[in-house]
Amino acid sequence: MDNNISYWEKTSFYDYDVIVVGSGIVGLNAAIHLRKSFPNLNVAILERGFLPSGASTKNAGFACFGSVSELIEQEKNTTTNGLHNLIQQRWKGLSKLRNLLGNETVDYQALGGHELFKNEDIELANQCVSKIEHYNYLIKDIVGKDAFYLSSHKIDSFGFKGITTMITNKYEAQIDTGKMMFALIKYAQSIGVSIFNSCTLEQIHHENNRKVLFTNQGMFSCTKLILATNAFIQSLVPSIELSPGRGQVLITKPIANLKIKGTFHYDKGYYYFRNIDDRILLGGGRNIDFKAEETTSFGETSSIQSALENLIKTIILPDQSFEIDLRWSGIMAFGRSLEPLITEVEENVFCATRCNGMGIAIGTQTGEDVAELVIQSGL
Ligand SMILES: Cc1cc2nc3c(=O)[nH]c(=O)nc-3n(C[C@H](O)[C@H](O)[C@H](O)COP(=O)(O)OP(=O)(O)OC[C@H]3O[C@@H](n4cnc5c(N)ncnc54)[C@H](O)[C@@H]3O)c2cc1C
Repeated sequence: MDNNISYWEKTSFYDYDVIVVGSGIVGLNAAIHLRKSFPNLNVAILERGFLPSGASTKNAGFACFGSVSELIEQEKNTTTNGLHNLIQQRWKGLSKLRNLLGNETVDYQALGGHELFKNEDIELANQCVSKIEHYNYLIKDIVGKDAFYLSSHKIDSFGFKGITTMITNKYEAQIDTGKMMFALIKYAQSIGVSIFNSCTLEQIHHENNRKVLFTNQGMFSCTKLILATNAFIQSLVPSIELSPGRGQVLITKPIANLKIKGTFHYDKGYYYFRNIDDRILLGGGRNIDFKAEETTSFGETSSIQSALENLIKTIILPDQSFEIDLRWSGIMAFGRSLEPLITEVEENVFCATRCNGMGIAIGTQTGEDVAELVIQSGL
């Protein structure tokens, strides 16, 4: 072993019962569930970034379970029963996250979520309005009564231009993503999970009953391995079916008397925006160039960034000037199936990936589910 590793380091820092790779919402929750279930279990997380560097610290912080137009598409993909199960998982995942960390810690605010339709999309708007009753009935046993309602009369109160139909989901909320991830990391550490940053898993070797992990910081070993590397998993397990999807985001500087409060979905969910600290955070536009955005590389493109700015100028804040403060991107993982992929890829190597852009809702449950799979395999 190189890296100038001492005997003391080798014997105390590198061997674990379970190693989780990836400190996103899924990996952290997997490690937390394992330690809570078995307080003496030796659990570590290896994270290649100085901070978690995938989607979990880059997202928009919507605590959502789907807008009506998204649900229509998802119902086609997964049947009505399948959709009911998915919404149940999303809702359960959100409740678990809130119970684990507390609403105040993650700044959970149930301000409602709104889907916006411009006049040109009137056909889609009418189709969505006609489905409100259907979805309210489908999910009333999960979230409560009358989640969705037509709220076009409130469009003017937000100051939007060119929007003619709005559907509100009264159970949709928002969180502060940074606070959530900071708290999850602190929680994991407080119950004894070791987290190593700037540590990239490069190769997995199998030696007797142990997994030997080759990293840029030396060789780790464990009995059970969980890969929670989401969109980046194919470099470790090429056979996994998923497509990466980059999400570009920008945030404005604070805006005086900002009327916009809540989470907003536009153009079938391809654009999303919300208020945070008197600013507008806006993301999306992957549909402008799906091919270019099917990448695991971070970065912004001028075409998508211009489309985002244009949306603010023409629709979101038509009568107000604004300045952009920050731009960034994150990488999601999508699959043909809407369910996350939670499986044993080979003996004692497990994976939990592909939250399909809904990891705030589904990530806690996904982490728990893969941890349960490890527990069932015998510890
Ligand atoms: C722009 C954007 C907006 C989004 N908005 C929302 C939203 O509003 N609501 C919502 O519910 N979801 C949203 N999502 C999706 C959500 O963020 C993800 O579904 C969720 O964060 C996935 O969590 P994860 O733990 O599976 O993956 P990630 O957070 O990607 O974590 C994987 C981790 O693995 C690490 N890693 C990768 N390879 C290695 C390696 N070889 N060795 C060590 N570490 C490695 C990465 O650095 C990363 O930290 C959004 C995503 C993006 C990008």
